[in-house]
Amino acid sequence: MAQTPDTLIGAIEAGGTKFVCAVGTGPGDRMLARASFPTGDRPAELLATVADWLKEQEGRYGRLRALGIASFGPVDLQPGSSTYGFITSTPKPGWQSTDLVGRLRAAFADIPIGFDTDVNGAALGEHAWGSASGLSDFVYITIGTGIGAGAMVGGELLHGLVHPEMGHMLLPRAPGDDFPGICPYHGGCWEGLCSGPALHRRTGVPSEDLLPDHPAWGLATRYIAAAIANITCILSPQRVILGGGVPKGGRLGEDRFFQQVREKLQAALNGYITAPALGPDIDRYLVPPLLGDHAGVCGAIALGQKAAREE
Ligand code: ZN
Repeated sequence: MAQTPDTLIGAIEAGGTKFVCAVGTGPGDRMLARASFPTGDRPAELLATVADWLKEQEGRYGRLRALGIASFGPVDLQPGSSTYGFITSTPKPGWQSTDLVGRLRAAFADIPIGFDTDVNGAALGEHAWGSASGLSDFVYITIGTGIGAGAMVGGELLHGLVHPEMGHMLLPRAPGDDFPGICPYHGGCWEGLCSGPALHRRTGVPSEDLLPDHPAWGLATRYIAAAIANITCILSPQRVILGGGVPKGGRLGEDRFFQQVREKLQAALNGYITAPALGPDIDRYLVPPLLGDHAGVCGAIALGQKAAREE
């Protein structure tokens, strides 16, 4: 697969709160322009604004070679499906059955468009420029307003039937924990127990303000470790990247948060899987994203580059 570092890409990280758009060839100073727009509840208007912004940058920096779109979901990723490129059954007002790719293709008819979930996009960005450089099998997890995860398996992003929804896995309850969870579909699935809003509902305090000795940290890190143990058993990743607001650990701090999750992950697996990554090298197995909060938009650039290569 040829590398195309100078391929100019129009990138869109379509989030539930805002759309982050960029034009560039990679992270850092390779990102030439960046802007963000509130998602709102009028997709047609927003997507016209985004297309106009990208055209404006094209006038300034030269012709875009491809677009990359990394979107909140659920999305239809099946080539050949009549709703390919749509945001499908989201509870977000105004966005059900939105033809995201089609609306942008109307403005950029002659260039390829790479499209995937926000978390698969972020995984690809971390693979190109971040914590997953050189790996063929890894998982990127984000824990914030929701929980999502993207996976690369054997060098390819994992799609399967629809796309992975690891945030909705069911977890064994900690003894004595009767918090019902907040997922409208499953109550106490992983997202229902551990997303930022779930921790807020459980404690009455936003996770960034939660004191270091609050017992909710103990529960959250226990559940997160259990989920990562399950992911480790199923996908056998070489590394797990954990991003988003919650792993910053609020007043507990990111280092202590990661240390607790690593210890509980080792306890959950109990030495069964023999690999240095799960033993003395655990600090390099479970890591924050190197691209930090730019993982999503960099991922959209990487999706555009992939589409350009595959054209
Ligand atoms: Zn759920």
